[in-house]
Amino acid sequence: MSARRRVIKGISISSGIAQGRARVIAPGQQKVPEMRIAAAAVKTEIAALDRAVAETVDELKQLRRSAGRKLGDAVGKVFDAQLLIANDQEFLNRVREEITERKRNAGFIYNLFVHRTTAELKKSSEQYMRQMVQEIEGVAHRVMSHLGGTRKKSPIRYREGTIIVTRSLTPGEVINYRNMKAAGMVAEAGGRHSHMALIARSLMIPVTVAGNACERIPNGSRIVVDGTNGSIIINPTDKEWADFHKKRKRLGPASLRRIKKLPEIPPETADGVPVNVAANLEFPGPVDDILSDQKIPVGLYRTEFLYLEADDFPDEEAQYKYYLRLAEKFSRSSVILRTFDLGSDKIKPDSLTAVEDNPALGWRGIRSMLEQPETFKRQIRAILRASTLKNLSILLPMISDVSEYKKARRLIAQVMFELRKEKTPFHSDIPVGIMVEVPSAALTADLLASEVDFISIGTNDLTQYTMSADRNNSRVAGLYNPYHPSVMNLIKMTVDAGRRHNKPVNICGELAGDPLAVPLLIGMGVSSLSMNPARIVDCCRLIKKIDSRLVRHLVEPVLSSNSAPAVVRKLQNYRNALENK
Ligand code: PEP
Ligand code: MG
Repeated sequence: MSARRRVIKGISISSGIAQGRARVIAPGQQKVPEMRIAAAAVKTEIAALDRAVAETVDELKQLRRSAGRKLGDAVGKVFDAQLLIANDQEFLNRVREEITERKRNAGFIYNLFVHRTTAELKKSSEQYMRQMVQEIEGVAHRVMSHLGGTRKKSPIRYREGTIIVTRSLTPGEVINYRNMKAAGMVAEAGGRHSHMALIARSLMIPVTVAGNACERIPNGSRIVVDGTNGSIIINPTDKEWADFHKKRKRLGPASLRRIKKLPEIPPETADGVPVNVAANLEFPGPVDDILSDQKIPVGLYRTEFLYLEADDFPDEEAQYKYYLRLAEKFSRSSVILRTFDLGSDKIKPDSLTAVEDNPALGWRGIRSMLEQPETFKRQIRAILRASTLKNLSILLPMISDVSEYKKARRLIAQVMFELRKEKTPFHSDIPVGIMVEVPSAALTADLLASEVDFISIGTNDLTQYTMSADRNNSRVAGLYNPYHPSVMNLIKMTVDAGRRHNKPVNICGELAGDPLAVPLLIGMGVSSLSMNPARIVDCCRLIKKIDSRLVRHLVEPVLSSNSAPAVVRKLQNYRNALENK
C-alpha cells in the first residue's frame, strides 16, 4: 500500500474499534451566501425560516421519542436542551428583525446570529457554556439544511464502514449518524463526560476526540478508530487492518450477546479462585437484561447522568423510582450506586458555584455534595428507600481525606434517623464505600480502609491526578498512562490496605477491563473488576486461563519498573506466554 501510514493519538470517548473510510464533515464551516432580497420577499423569507424551525422542532421531538423508547427516558430528555435552543423566540425575533431591516436572505442572517452567539460562548471560562456551542451548532445545522431544502426526506445511509470525522458531536448527531449506519466517529472536541460521550458508550459506537482531526484526516482515506485507547490510524498496513478486524469482532455490540453463553459467573482462575466481574453502567439500556439474566452485578452506576439529563438535581421521588427499578432489575445480583460525581464544569452555575480555572482540581465529587447537604441527603434518602432488597451499596466519589468520608457518613446517619422516625423501611447495614481515585487517598489507604466498608479504585482519575495530565486533553494524552509505575504502585498500596483491614477492593476504572492489566490486578489480590459491559466476555475467558499463584510474580517486577513502556513490555511478555501455552 503506497499511502503514508500515520497515527493520531487522541482521547478515548467510547471504546471499540471502527474500520472504514473517513467522511470528513465540518459543519459550522459552511458559508451561506449573502443575498439581497426585495422588500416584498421579506415575508416569504421569514415564513421559510419559521417553517425550517418548525421542521427542526418536529425532528428533535421525534428523535427524543425514539431515543426514549430505545434507551430510556433519561437519554431521550437530552434533546430537551436542543428543543429549547431551536424554539428560542427571543433569538428568532432578532433574526426576523434583521431580515426585515437588512433585506437579506434568512439563511445568511440566521447563520450570522448563530456564529455571533457561539463565538461569545467559546470564549467563556465555563466548560458548561462552551459545551452549549455543540448543542447550538447541532440545532443550527438542522435548521440550515431545512432552510436550504437540502435535507433528504428519506434517511441517508452511509456505505458500510463510513467513519464520520467532524468538528464536534451533539447527542442527536451521534444517534443520527448511527442510524445512518456510520461505523464510528472522530470529533475535534468533546469531553468523556459530555452527553454525547455517554450516549456513544451506551450505543457502543467507537468515538475518539483528536484536535484538528478534520484537517489531519484526509477525506476518503482508509482509517481505523481505536476508541479504546483513543488512537486513529490513517492508512494502516494490511496486517494491522486484519488484526483490528479480529479485535473489532471481539469488542463490538455482538459481544454483549456472547455474555449469555458464559458458562460460569463469577469466573474462576485456572487454580479455582473466583474473581467477581461486574459492569459499569450510566443509564438504562438493552444491556441491562443480559446482565441481570446472567446475574452480573453492577460495580459502578454513575448516577450523575440523572443530573445531566435533567440539567438539575431530580427530586427524591424520581430518584427513588429510578433506584428501585435498578434494585429490582438486578435483584439476583447487586448494584453499587455512586453518588453524584459532578463538578463546577457540569453543575449549572448559581450562587454556590464559582467559575473555576481547574474544575478537575476543584469543586468535584464528594466536595460539592458535602457543601450541598440537602441535595446529598435527598439522593441518600432515595437510595435508602430503594434499598429494602438489600442489594444496593453506596459509593462516594473523589474522597481525598478521611474527614470527607466521616462527614458523609454523618449525613447518611441523619437520613437513617429520619427514615426510622417516619417508619420508612430501608437497609440499615447498607455498605458505604469510597472511590480511591486521587493520590492522597491511595497514600492514606490504610486510614481510609479502617473506616470504610469497601474501596473502589477509579484508575481513570487516579491516572490523571497522579500524572497531572487532564484525561480530556489530547495534548497531554501521551502522559496520561495508567501503566506508569507511579499509578501501579498506588493501586498496589490501596489493594494491600484493603487486605490488611479485610475490606473488599474493586477496580472500576478502564484498567479493570484491559486484558493486559487483568493478570496483574489478580496478582495484586483485587477482589472485583468492574468494566464496560463490552469487555466482560473477553475478561471472563482470560481469567479462566490465569493461575493466580503465578501472576503474583508479575507484581514486583512491574512495581519496580522505571517507565510505563517497561511495565507494558513485562505484561505483554506474560500475555504472549499465556497465549502460546
Ligand atoms: C475513574 O475515575 O476511574 C472512574 C471509574 O470514575 P469516572 O470515570 O466516572 O470518573
Ligand atoms: Mg472518577
